[in-house]
Amino acid sequence: MTKNLSLLGSTGSIGTQTLEIIRNNKDIAVSALAAGSNVRLMEAQIREFGPALACLYDEAAAADLKVRVADLNVRVVSGMDGLLEAATLAQADTVLGAIVGMVGIRPVMAAIEAKKKLALANKETLVTAGHLIMPLAAQNGVALLPVDSEHSAIFQVLEGNRHNAVSRILLTASGGPFRGLTRAQTKDKTAADALKHPNWSMGQKITIDSATMVNKGLEVMEARWLFDVSYDAIEVVVQPKSVIHSMVEYEDGAVLAQLGTPDMKLPIAYALYYPERRPLPGPRLDFKTLRQIELDEPDNEAFPALPLAYRAGRRGGTMPTVYNAANEWAVAAFLRGEIGFNDITDIIAACMDRHTVTENPSLDDILTVERELSASLKKKRGH
Ligand code: NAD
Ligand code: MG
Repeated sequence: MTKNLSLLGSTGSIGTQTLEIIRNNKDIAVSALAAGSNVRLMEAQIREFGPALACLYDEAAAADLKVRVADLNVRVVSGMDGLLEAATLAQADTVLGAIVGMVGIRPVMAAIEAKKKLALANKETLVTAGHLIMPLAAQNGVALLPVDSEHSAIFQVLEGNRHNAVSRILLTASGGPFRGLTRAQTKDKTAADALKHPNWSMGQKITIDSATMVNKGLEVMEARWLFDVSYDAIEVVVQPKSVIHSMVEYEDGAVLAQLGTPDMKLPIAYALYYPERRPLPGPRLDFKTLRQIELDEPDNEAFPALPLAYRAGRRGGTMPTVYNAANEWAVAAFLRGEIGFNDITDIIAACMDRHTVTENPSLDDILTVERELSASLKKKRGH
């Protein structure tokens, strides 16, 4: 289990829930905290958890933070160098990667190279660099513990079954707030509409990704890397209430699932305390009131993000990076009110159509594709 944690993305949805678990259990020390630019929350977190190192990516925010915590014994750093320092700090045995987006790739890889146990929420890193991260983790003998709820569910199911071949991964999806609508009906949906997720309260980007089904697309690619399965063996099942967190089918036809009320603290705590389970207060599943579990197929016509993700994943090379980077750009533009809801998936499809794939890309290749793609989208669209 984790004794000393470096938490990357501490001010976000996953980050604050992680600190809530640590606050309640009082047996994990926090040695580093890192985030983007939220000075006030970072200051409060430093005062409560007393890390040796704090990083804000934004330089001006870090300078402000330095002044605010001048009375404390904490070193304040910034930028990518600061993130890398937080990811590799000597006293941390575990790094929890909960930064959002591709900016997390280098810190995640640095943490693995420094032989830290890695609890990973930051799915964009595996989607774009899974072919580098998984072998690197194996080489360094580093455990990679999924924090994404579906992948945690699969990981939990696989426990005790490692010697058995998996025949299918059944990845559950809530379908998001626009489930049941046609593409014509989602056209005029705004960011405010999309930010109302029925089951989970999460960061803005992943909430939009859940509405477009890009989140499930990213998760299919994430599962491919985490569990070394082919795309043909990953099936998405819509389960609107998020009671079943995912399932694994074995060669004898047995399907094993992990169920529970939707609470991200469970997968976070499971990754932190693995292989132990810690008591976690909160509502329990009550099958008498639940009575039925609704299941459906994904609507690939209304939500093309899922078939696009299979296409990107199967094509491989830099194509998953294009899928992800185009989405990161489009979600930011949608949140600013500059493009429509359906434009997000149209932009991903157009970027994929235009892209010439580089096979087996290096980290530099991946970051270059991202940089060039955002620059060209910005030029074309004037932002
Ligand atoms: P969030 O937006 O709430 O938080 C993101 C965190 O990353 C914040 O602390 C922010 O300051 C930090 N950050 C952003 N840019 C940064 C930068 N350049 N440098 C350093 N830090 C930076 O997001 P979230 O919902 O907590 O999601 C985090 C990751 O976990 C995402 O990859 C998401 O897909 C994944 N995830 C989240 C949930 C959930 O329930 N929230 C569930 C599964 C997976
Ligand atoms: Mg998930």
